[in-house]
Amino acid sequence: MPDHQAIAARLAERLGSNGFLREAGDIAPFRRDSVYCAEGDIIGVARPANLSEVSDVLALCHDAGIVVIPRGGGTGFAGGALPRRQDSAVILSTDRLRAIRSVDIVGDVMVVEAGVTLQAVRDEAARHGRLVGIDHGGAGSSAIGGNIATNAGGNNVVRYGMSRDQLLGIEAVLSDGRLVSSASTLRKSNAGYDLRHLLAGSEGTLAIITAVALKMRPQPVKRVTGLFALASPDAVLTLFAMAKDVLGEAIAAFEVMSQAALAQHYAHAGASAVQPFANDAKWSVLIEADAASVFFDLDAALAALTERALEMEIVRNGILAASLAQRDALWKLREGIAVAMGAWRGPMVRTDTSVPVARVPEFIAGIEAGAQRIVPGAPTFFFGHVGDGNIHFNLAAPPSMPDETFRARMSEVYRMTEDMALSLNGSVSAEHGIGQSKREALMRMKTPVELDLMAGIKKVFDPGGLLNPGKILF
Ligand SMILES: Cc1cc2nc3c(=O)[nH]c(=O)nc-3n(C[C@H](O)[C@H](O)[C@H](O)COP(=O)(O)OP(=O)(O)OC[C@H]3O[C@@H](n4cnc5c(N)ncnc54)[C@H](O)[C@@H]3O)c2cc1C
Repeated sequence: MPDHQAIAARLAERLGSNGFLREAGDIAPFRRDSVYCAEGDIIGVARPANLSEVSDVLALCHDAGIVVIPRGGGTGFAGGALPRRQDSAVILSTDRLRAIRSVDIVGDVMVVEAGVTLQAVRDEAARHGRLVGIDHGGAGSSAIGGNIATNAGGNNVVRYGMSRDQLLGIEAVLSDGRLVSSASTLRKSNAGYDLRHLLAGSEGTLAIITAVALKMRPQPVKRVTGLFALASPDAVLTLFAMAKDVLGEAIAAFEVMSQAALAQHYAHAGASAVQPFANDAKWSVLIEADAASVFFDLDAALAALTERALEMEIVRNGILAASLAQRDALWKLREGIAVAMGAWRGPMVRTDTSVPVARVPEFIAGIEAGAQRIVPGAPTFFFGHVGDGNIHFNLAAPPSMPDETFRARMSEVYRMTEDMALSLNGSVSAEHGIGQSKREALMRMKTPVELDLMAGIKKVFDPGGLLNPGKILF
């Protein structure tokens, strides 16, 4: 039986009083992520300030047989940074690993420590006229290490890919304290197995990421944004194909919102909500395109797309932002849905699956029918990154249904949604990861051979099973 008092004393001695938190009040914020509360015990929170302290924390815990759980901003959606009921764990927070180590604007590479927030990474790139292609609503509080560990998605995946696609190199430490590698800034290297891509998306189960080298790109100098009203998911895909023809690789976001989802935003935001269309648009699409060259005439391209789509009656109405304030107002619609969903009082099913883009209409129709079969009369909300086949589907109780009755049916709705995605060759987790919450779904998605290989990889990296156990795999 590991001696918790002894390990706490050793960690406090190594890290100092500010580097190791033990008081209940100090630990309380580490007991939650965006959705879940910790069920297990937290021995203390280690806050190493450099690589050698990370290494020592891990080695000390390893030798004492103590579970370590890495944590960035704690904004995850899958319970990945929280101890399971049966665990007593040390949380290793990256919140003091905040150095921006280098910014190279010739090679377009930035090396940052894991605890730097995503927003600070983006701001630093912008100061040098550059862009890092990861962005989402949690940018201000999530850490770059957490973004790489969860392979976060967000609004610009259609243009730049997921977080792993921005990764050039990774510095990480194994559960026994050994350094795996330093953050290589190379743009080309075909030197054997590429471990960085194993660590991206590994949700803290293989190693602790301490620093990353990220690709930068020229900062866009021109950006155009439009909102379109459409009648059906099929029309949304037709518009997507047309937008690719007209705007090409300049499309930076292609987001969809159902009428019910927007109505919920209007109801939540009250008088401050801007309603661009009379509320009869069954589906709305927000398109943003940007370019790093002033010679690309995006205004003309978006105007041409709008004209063509109206002429062919693919869209019923369109609004093009004429100023930054108007652009922000259009984005508030999309972001306001997430806020309204977060503020929903009472139980709600919140899903994050993906399907091949061409199958989005089938997915939406199947989910709607399945949901009404399980919870007749339930309001359904669809919104998300249709350009990546990642539609978030939320479902709430019908007004007349007691919460307890609805709660009893929620797991059936989750199962139906995941099964629908799998039947269309999709994924049970598009961007929020597996953590503790989707392990059963993962078992249904992967082949036995894939699961065997994943378990084998875990054993090679962490033979003692001390690093974030029970996340991704059982
Ligand atoms: C308002 C809001 C909007 C969001 N929108 C999106 C979105 O559009 N797309 C999206 O993908 N996500 C979104 N998220 C979710 C979240 O921000 C991401 O999952 C983010 O990547 C988590 O980063 P974090 O630093 O908060 O990680 P944490 O929550 O601290 O940890 C998440 C997981 O990563 C592991 N981990 C953290 N740091 C490290 C490290 N240094 N080394 C190894 N493992 C580590 C943890 O153990 C855990 O398993 C949103 C969150 C909020 C609050």
